[in-house]
Amino acid sequence: MGRKFKKKLCQICKQKGLRKESVIYMKEHRLALCKEHFIEWFEKRVKETIKEFKMFSPSEKVLVAVSGGKDSQTLWYVLNKLGYNADGFFINLGIGDYSEESLQKVKELGKILGKEPYIVDLKEKVGAPLPVLKNFVLGTACSVCGRIKRYHFNKIARELGYRVVATGHNLDDESSSLLANLINWNLKYLARKYPVLPEEKGFPRKVKPLVKLTEEQIKTYADLVGVPYTNRSCPLGDTANLHFYKHLMEEIENHARGTKYRFYFEFLKKVFPIFNTLKEELVEGELQKCKICGEPSPSEICFVCRLKERLQKKETH
Ligand code: SF4
Ligand code: ZN
Ligand code: ZN
Repeated sequence: MGRKFKKKLCQICKQKGLRKESVIYMKEHRLALCKEHFIEWFEKRVKETIKEFKMFSPSEKVLVAVSGGKDSQTLWYVLNKLGYNADGFFINLGIGDYSEESLQKVKELGKILGKEPYIVDLKEKVGAPLPVLKNFVLGTACSVCGRIKRYHFNKIARELGYRVVATGHNLDDESSSLLANLINWNLKYLARKYPVLPEEKGFPRKVKPLVKLTEEQIKTYADLVGVPYTNRSCPLGDTANLHFYKHLMEEIENHARGTKYRFYFEFLKKVFPIFNTLKEELVEGELQKCKICGEPSPSEICFVCRLKERLQKKETH
């Protein structure tokens, strides 16, 4: 993202009569802050988001879905810094160097936090790494990957006694995906577009504590406090669409400062409640227990168990 800014003085230091150069200028807040005050601002914003949306209490155990990228790594770090009981959970997708480097970064952060991350290896759990698995189902690598990840996050959270799963989605992710889903009138998606989804139907509560922070702010924070993360992008990612809408949102933001935030948070306040009343109709119907693994599933046999069966029979698409 790297928005350019002229070196300004930290406004908080300035109020105290000090002259300290800022490390970031946040155009949407008209705020320039030095390292110390930006870190303070960032952590306060995360804490406020958790409280505002009643995401979890300090006594609850939180499982953070870490991918090795800057957002989820920062989330795991900042939750611990704020005193929450947050543990990292990583799924090794087996995507060559990308997965290897991601795993290293997760382990590195675990060392810094003094916490061992939970690691699930897709090859061991399902029988093959993602580059092989994607040939056994119709759809893009990301859609297969997303479903496999969700299945394991839910399963592991329940097995380990975590009622809350946190992900590193940021304001850029949320506002641009809202735009994409509105343009396509994807009602099913809009009915679930909220920073906290309650624990229900055998699924843990899902929370997004970084929704008020942009990619640029998260990257700046991560670099300032020394959160290890990988810059590599997944070679299987079909991200052209995602990048298009992010770019579009950025264009609108450059045209009218603060739009990203307004667009998303006004949706939550004014429109989401309407969609939420239609949730039962819009979101998939009744769930049942998968006959093989017992996980909640819309069909008799869940997606992952079907995938395993196909793999054994070598039924590729
Ligand atoms: Fe999975 Fe797609 Fe992300 Fe790669 S880019 S890790 S395939 S969701
Ligand atoms: Zn300052
Ligand atoms: Zn199953």
